[in-house]
Amino acid sequence: MPRLTKISDIGLESLSADGSYQASAAIVWCMDRRARRARENLLQMLNYKLEDLIQVAGGVQGIVGRKPHARNYLLRQIELALLKHGAREIVLMTHQDCAMFKDKIPIGRDEMKFLARKLVQGMMLVAKHLEPLPFVGPVRGVLVGHAGTFEVAP
Ligand SMILES: [Zn+2]
Repeated sequence: MPRLTKISDIGLESLSADGSYQASAAIVWCMDRRARRARENLLQMLNYKLEDLIQVAGGVQGIVGRKPHARNYLLRQIELALLKHGAREIVLMTHQDCAMFKDKIPIGRDEMKFLARKLVQGMMLVAKHLEPLPFVGPVRGVLVGHAGTFEVAP
């Protein structure tokens, strides 16, 4: 029998009587610690109260990269945020100097433009994937750079 040792009084928050909640958004964000403040600021700016955070290395890179298992995993996570928590929006993110994109940017190519294109590619892929689902909210693209945080539009 595994042994349980309580290490804190803080556990699951109670968001409603039955434990359910509606997510403001499903957010695919890179694990890179340097982008945390940008995320917290964005949540405040967009007035997201309850977000489903899907935090993986590279953020949108997993969706637009060459590995089908990474893409399928992330698309499923987004789907679950919609189906289980009724997420109203989707945010895809990446950032400058991301280790997951570093060796993929052609030499001489403008990094911000390259990443913006990858975000748009991811936004379109996610929107197409979700077409059969009852989701009508926006799929946003967010690029965190050294100079600030940028919303990317197609
Ligand atoms: Zn990264």
